[in-house]
Amino acid sequence: MFQKFLGGKTAVVTGSNSGIGLGIAHELARAGADLVLNSFTDAPEDHALAESLAAEHGVKVRYIQADMSKGAECRALIEKAGACDILVNNAGIQHVAPIPDFPAEKWDAIIAINLSSAFHTTAVALPLMREAGWGRVINIASAHGLTASEYKSAYVAAKHGIVGLTKVTALETAKEPITCNAICPGYVLTPIVEKQIPDQMKTHNLSREDVIAKVMLHRQPSGQFATVEQMGGTAVFLCSPAAEQITGTTISVDGGWTAL
Ligand code: NAD
Repeated sequence: MFQKFLGGKTAVVTGSNSGIGLGIAHELARAGADLVLNSFTDAPEDHALAESLAAEHGVKVRYIQADMSKGAECRALIEKAGACDILVNNAGIQHVAPIPDFPAEKWDAIIAINLSSAFHTTAVALPLMREAGWGRVINIASAHGLTASEYKSAYVAAKHGIVGLTKVTALETAKEPITCNAICPGYVLTPIVEKQIPDQMKTHNLSREDVIAKVMLHRQPSGQFATVEQMGGTAVFLCSPAAEQITGTTISVDGGWTAL
């Protein structure tokens, strides 16, 4: 249904050399969008990944290194991209610890990467979208943007914050052909989740299988991980004409977690 309708548009996806960002990049490219991939690394594999997506989908793909923990680099990413019809604020990290033990530098890094980066990229992207006469801002929040879990203070605060930023961005663009929404994934088995498993095993004194079943998917009534392809499909939908009047809201892709 959505074949190539994004031809001629450029999508910038932050944190897109793995996981959900990469999944979204694939689906936007499948729908015809040219891509700017990003992460903080500048490895040969990052550039090879850009070449392989370009070859697979027949679109233009660039890889631009920028550290999303630094405001100036967030802004430079969009400036270097030159065009940004679709902005997907996806870069994110996680740290799990009780508040008294939560390292202050982890708090600062999570707020910077998971929240402030979206403010900086949006600030530079909106004028480009206005010039182009069309734009989509898609913030990757989380079920943790709508509800909380213990030991994830910084992450839950940042994700609630990005839901707030989504609403303000939508109000400031409401009269224009620009929308801003947040996708709220439940658990998706990507590296960010893999990395939490050992900490959760230690914190809850559980096996890997029990952390997955009792701590993670226990929250997800479907009993299944959501997939990166489902996040990509939701992003493509938000770029489609059917979504023109959808702005300032959250779309949960969480197997029923936030219905609990
Ligand atoms: P991931 O670890 O696979 O991907 C994170 C991406 O962010 C990577 O490409 C990484 O290189 C990039 N990144 C990290 N620090 C960066 C920095 N300083 N500058 C630039 N890029 C940086 O994890 P993921 O699961 O794909 O997470 C993507 C987004 O989805 C995050 O915002 C995360 O909070 C959100 N999310 C994930 C889940 C899940 O279950 N996986 C659930 C809800 C929300």
